[in-house]
Amino acid sequence: MVNQINHIGIAVKSLEEHIPFYQNILKFELIGKEEVKEQKVKVAIFQIGEVKIELLEPTSPDSPIAKFIDKKGEGMHHIAYQTDNITKEIEEITNQDIRMIDNKPRIGAHETQIAFIHPKSSGKVLTELCQIKKNK
Ligand code: ZN
Repeated sequence: MVNQINHIGIAVKSLEEHIPFYQNILKFELIGKEEVKEQKVKVAIFQIGEVKIELLEPTSPDSPIAKFIDKKGEGMHHIAYQTDNITKEIEEITNQDIRMIDNKPRIGAHETQIAFIHPKSSGKVLTELCQIKKNK
């Protein structure tokens, strides 16, 4: 079951250029910076209430984030809904003829498992399912 928004992903060309706005102007807490090699991105994560804001910077021209910025420019990239059982969620969604980009969960930032729903099935809003590691 999806039970809350986990984070909103924002595509940027440079983390360093955009971190000060969230950290100094909006005064969000920067809770982590990491590289997710599998997705060819560097991520800066801010916590605001129960929700996180993830700034995503591509680390390679063939990163999905680089392709997104080339096509649409910087800005809102995806919304991530939190579930307590991502495998079951994927199965239920697929059973209802909704197309997934990821039919199996993969590793996301901040020790999560993630899977994207195909934007053709979600009104062009890139939608991510996200499960937090149980021991956290
Ligand atoms: Zn995400």
